[in-house]
Amino acid sequence: MNHEESAALLHFAGQLDGRISRTLADPSAAARMIARWAEALPEVPSTTADGRWDVSRAVRRYYEQRGGDHSARFFAVEPHHVLSEWATHREAALGRHTDPLPAADPDRPEQWREELLGTRRAVATGAAAPADHRALTSGGPAPAVADAIRSAGRRIPPAVAAQLAPYRPTRAARDQALATGRPDPLSVPCTWCAARPGQPCRQGKGRTPRATPHPSRIEAAARAAGQETAA
Ligand SMILES: [Zn+2]
Repeated sequence: MNHEESAALLHFAGQLDGRISRTLADPSAAARMIARWAEALPEVPSTTADGRWDVSRAVRRYYEQRGGDHSARFFAVEPHHVLSEWATHREAALGRHTDPLPAADPDRPEQWREELLGTRRAVATGAAAPADHRALTSGGPAPAVADAIRSAGRRIPPAVAAQLAPYRPTRAARDQALATGRPDPLSVPCTWCAARPGQPCRQGKGRTPRATPHPSRIEAAARAAGQETAA
């Protein structure tokens, strides 16, 4: 905040707090107070590009005496109150921020790095809104992305799918069927362990789900599919 912004903020604070408005009534005291605030908060913007931060809200919050904090009764708002609100806001913004792919040539690492840091700095100072990937991913992927996912066939990399297989046998069987072009074994009951259609094969005394269907079930599914195509 520069001097003008600090003056505007203190004017606002004066509307909430008679102690501040009385100080502002004296021109030389007002000038000193404005200068002190501007010097204490040079990196705190009065508003941010995304509209999520407004410094006057930070002042208002101090006077709302949240959580049983009654310090506003005894002390007028100080720059450090605004500073701690800003720090909280900035951390949240940086937490939401996902570094976008720099436009710089990746063969020029200095420029690449500088652009990344520049974007991050801009978010930290409130000059730019965080690139919020969660907002982008909520509400489903863009049509082009959805097409890419469909054409890829598998939503997760094969190595990860293999690691997950024991924990999601039903899905694993379907993935396996998709990858090999064979019919889904889970579409038929298992002749070996009597698992019902849609349920994973089970084994052992604990009837724990198997990562893969029993071979006889895979064959049964293939036979069933063959009969369907023949019919
Ligand atoms: Zn089975």
